[in-house]
Amino acid sequence: MKTQKVRRKKDSIKADKRLKTKAKRLSVIVDEFLEVDIDRNKLSKDHEKTERLLNLLVDNLWEGKHSNTDFYWLYEDIPKSEIVSKCYERLSEFWAQFKRNLFDHREKILPLRAKLKSKEKSENIDSKIEEYSDNINDEQLYFISVKYHFEKQITVTFENDEIHFVQLGKDVVDAFIELINGLPASIFKKCKYENCKRCFILTSRHKKEFCCRNCASKWHQKQVQKTDPEGYRAYHRDYYQKRKELLKKRRMSSGENR
Ligand SMILES: [Zn+2]
Repeated sequence: MKTQKVRRKKDSIKADKRLKTKAKRLSVIVDEFLEVDIDRNKLSKDHEKTERLLNLLVDNLWEGKHSNTDFYWLYEDIPKSEIVSKCYERLSEFWAQFKRNLFDHREKILPLRAKLKSKEKSENIDSKIEEYSDNINDEQLYFISVKYHFEKQITVTFENDEIHFVQLGKDVVDAFIELINGLPASIFKKCKYENCKRCFILTSRHKKEFCCRNCASKWHQKQVQKTDPEGYRAYHRDYYQKRKELLKKRRMSSGENR
């Protein structure tokens, strides 16, 4: 009995660790690949960036199990930048739909369910919610359409007595689905700064509301502007005054040196 309990605990720690590393891998892909603009033409001239993005994908989508050269034998005659652009195009198409569904579920369906539940308690269901009440608590299905351009190929190796399926034959969307499958939906976040709304992934328990520091400071500045406009103006007056003095000092000291 006891050993079973211990084993179960060990298993859950193991599963927890696995999810954590998956979330970290996903976070890199989201921050540096999916939530940025990648221009096909520019990329074809930027070998350094192409190389970096390709490595990023191999490491995080295919877990870096194979050297980069293995990645190419599947698409031998295609330039590297073209592979990256293709992956970007296919993943972005999937990502846009996936995000829309996830945030729709969180922002529309879940509040509706909560509303319904509280109404049920008070047994005072209004007609608008009643419309939904038949199926709102059922499992909500979402659909994502994906085109498959690449031919699927599965390769297996038996080196060192280990059966290993070469994952690089897997289409980029399949690899991505495998990566996010089973992850908690709550780790997908939208940047709180309204002019940004970039998506990012929570990789620790630490509460994070913004995609980057830049957005956080912009949001806080805006808050100050809203709640304390006089303080905001005073802060900026102060800032410009200080800057002016600093520039003046610099000019003077450079004049002295002449
Ligand atoms: Zn942001």
